[in-house]
Amino acid sequence: MTKLGSGKAPVALAVSAVAVLGMVAACGGDNGGPGVSGETAAKVEINRVAAGDITAHGGAKRLAGDQTQAIADSIQRSKAKNVILVIGDGTANQELTLARNYQWGAGGRIPGIDELPLSGDYTTYALDKTTKKPDYTTDSAASGSAWATGTKTYNGAVGVDVNGKPQRSILEIARANGRRTGNVTTTELQDATPAVQVAHVSQRKCYGPVETKEKCTSDALENGGLGSITEQLLAARADVTLGGGWKTFSQTATAGEYRDKTLEAQAKERGYQIVRSGDELDAIKAADQDKPLLGVFADGNLPRLWDKATATKEGGKEAPITCAPNPAFGATPKLASMTKKAIDLLKGDKGFFLQVESGSVDKANHDADPCGQIGETVQLSEAVSTALEFAKQDKDTLVIVTGDHAHTSQIIEAGTVTPGLTRTLNTKDGGVLTVNYGTSLDPGEEQHTGGQVRIAAYGPGAANVVGVTDQTDPFFYITDVLGLDRDKK
Ligand SMILES: [Zn+2]
Repeated sequence: MTKLGSGKAPVALAVSAVAVLGMVAACGGDNGGPGVSGETAAKVEINRVAAGDITAHGGAKRLAGDQTQAIADSIQRSKAKNVILVIGDGTANQELTLARNYQWGAGGRIPGIDELPLSGDYTTYALDKTTKKPDYTTDSAASGSAWATGTKTYNGAVGVDVNGKPQRSILEIARANGRRTGNVTTTELQDATPAVQVAHVSQRKCYGPVETKEKCTSDALENGGLGSITEQLLAARADVTLGGGWKTFSQTATAGEYRDKTLEAQAKERGYQIVRSGDELDAIKAADQDKPLLGVFADGNLPRLWDKATATKEGGKEAPITCAPNPAFGATPKLASMTKKAIDLLKGDKGFFLQVESGSVDKANHDADPCGQIGETVQLSEAVSTALEFAKQDKDTLVIVTGDHAHTSQIIEAGTVTPGLTRTLNTKDGGVLTVNYGTSLDPGEEQHTGGQVRIAAYGPGAANVVGVTDQTDPFFYITDVLGLDRDKK
């Protein structure tokens, strides 16, 4: 076993090196090119916690020793049977650091996320719809469209290019190639990140026929378009679709085969199994193209795991707070359990592509709500751990974890007030941390920022995330790693 971290496994390093040499000699030249086997990579254990007393010399270091062999042992051959893409909406390095400091301590590790062996950064800029020049702060629609379709576009665009032309998504291509597919989120299913895998509309707000008629006129079915996001989601027919956004399903189709019927009735006629609670979800034993699964657990976005604690103009100087559970979360399925269920339903001979999103890291960030934000980052961590656990057993699954864009939260000098809104929190370390939301003075109106975003991975093809890439790159290497014909209809 190669141990990449501060744990104690010095002897194992030498053993692993010999094992790898044997593996390369046995398998060199096999399909997939250079790299080790899944068996070898699964044995690399990364434990990046501080070594000990952080006030002592070497106490804060996270590495147990030279990691060259462990990195070499993590780079696998390129082809994978399954890909799980996990997105933290609005989750860049500031958000990850904030959550780590609060929940696990400055020298701690974010379970799942900090265990990924290979990482890099990607650029996330969008395009201006009119000038076609870079728009340096992307929204979730343009950013999601970038990785889902390989094409840069304008803010607000879902699955169409800067000229409005539909671009095929990974999920659509995977399904056309006979792979199984899943789409899981904590937000409304019509929200930008889940929508980019299943829909093509000119404006992200076109959830149902009502909004589409008004805001995306040429996309409306009655005008010869592909229809609203929800209608396209149903037509896209992923095997597993889980999230929120039930209210749109009560809208009525205005044209097409299901005219004058509600979208809920349409889902049933199309053969979907519909579940509305965690218990109903647990009871589902199979989901496929005959009986795809549609799980919708809230009218809008799913509730956040932790209660709100909004930052204010003077909040940074007020007594530090400790975050509390959100009583409204109730029996809502957690992101990790939805992820586990999706994997259980999708795994098998055909191989699958699954997208998972913790969507309300972004929404809490917009609200200047550090507790809501950290709680949803905890959900992200749990979902990544779930995906990683499966991938390490399966040994033929690529797990990619990233954010879609940077956001406004910043860790600032503790106990201070800076321009914008601030809040001071008690941390796991027994310390205090102050967070600033500086892009607006109105909670709810905080905005995205334009920094590059971390992307990390484990499994076959994970080497593609290393260094600086662009947000459109995942479309190409995910479809390549899965061996998909991108033109197959
Ligand atoms: Zn946002």
